[in-house]
Amino acid sequence: MVFAVQCPNASCKKYQLVEEHDRGKVVNCLLCKTPIRVGGGAPSASKPQQPPAAKPRQP
Ligand SMILES: [Zn+2]
Repeated sequence: MVFAVQCPNASCKKYQLVEEHDRGKVVNCLLCKTPIRVGGGAPSASKPQQPPAAKPRQP
């Protein structure tokens, strides 16, 4: 199963797909290389608990 995570970089916000086994790991954004924590919520708790829209943007 794959799911989408969103880059926490405010000037990037790119969605990318990660695999279920990457949950709990940190992946780097493909664009800006910002570390993205997979699962467990975003590192910045500025938003209430609400997952991002699961659909990655079509190019
Ligand atoms: Zn990014």
